[in-house]
Amino acid sequence: MGEITTKAPFMAAPRCRFCNSEYTTYFRDIPLRRIKQNAPLYFCMVCECMWHPQDCVEPDDQLKRDAEWHISVEDRNTPWINNFLNAAVARKPIKSFIEIGCGTSTMRSIGRERGMDVIGYDTNPVAAPIALARHNIEIQPCLWGHDTLSKKYDLVVCISTLEHVPDPNGLIHEIATYCKRHGSAAFVSVPFTCERSQWHFLLEPVPKDISNPYYLSDVHINHFSRHGFEQMCWRHGATKVDFFPRGWIGYWLEF
Ligand SMILES: [Zn+2]
Repeated sequence: MGEITTKAPFMAAPRCRFCNSEYTTYFRDIPLRRIKQNAPLYFCMVCECMWHPQDCVEPDDQLKRDAEWHISVEDRNTPWINNFLNAAVARKPIKSFIEIGCGTSTMRSIGRERGMDVIGYDTNPVAAPIALARHNIEIQPCLWGHDTLSKKYDLVVCISTLEHVPDPNGLIHEIATYCKRHGSAAFVSVPFTCERSQWHFLLEPVPKDISNPYYLSDVHINHFSRHGFEQMCWRHGATKVDFFPRGWIGYWLEF
C-alpha cells in the first residue's frame, strides 16, 4: 500500500481587500497582457469579490493611449452622461458635482453647459492638457482632494475608478466622510462581476475580448460583486445604497 499524499494546488491567500474576511482563497493566475506576466487572483468567499495584488505603474505611452481612449468614447458617453444627469437631477437638486477619475472631462464639460459648478480629479497627467485644449477645463492631478474640499458639492461621481485603486475601502471612506460632512450624495460605478463571469473566467482564463471584465487586468485590480460592493458601502455608514443604472451600471449612495 502506498502512502496517501495530497498535493493540493493551494496558495495562501491574504485577508480580503474589501471586507477583511479571512475566508479567502487563491482562485487562479490572471494574465497581465501589457507587462506579459501573471498575477495571483484571489477570491473572497464572504463578499464574493476578487482582486490581485499587482499595482501597475503605467509607462508614459500607455498613459497617453489611456487618455486618448477617453476621447474615442466621447460620442458613446454623451447620451449616457445626459441620461445619468437627468436622472440625478430628478432625484436630488444637483447644482454641482465632484468627479473622481474624470478622464478628459467629458462629463464635467456637459455639466458645466447645464450651469453646474464642477471640479475633477485624475491621476493621469496626460488627461489634463487634453481636457484643457478640448473643453477648456482644468483637472486636479490627484485621486481625491479631501483635505482641500471644505467647499460643498451636491454630488460625488466616481465612475470606472474604484476597480483601479489598491485601497478601495480608503476611497469609499473618503467619499463617505465628504458626503456626511456636506449632506452630498454619491454615484459610484464599477464593472461588476457575477458568478457567471467568474465561472467563465475560470474556464477561459485568457479573456479574448475587452467586454470581458477580466480583460484589462493590468489596470483592473479589483473585481466587485454587487453584493460585496453593497456591503462595503453599508460598512462605511451608507444610509442609502440604491441600484442606479443610468448610463453606467452603478449605485446611488447617501451617508
Ligand atoms: Zn470579502
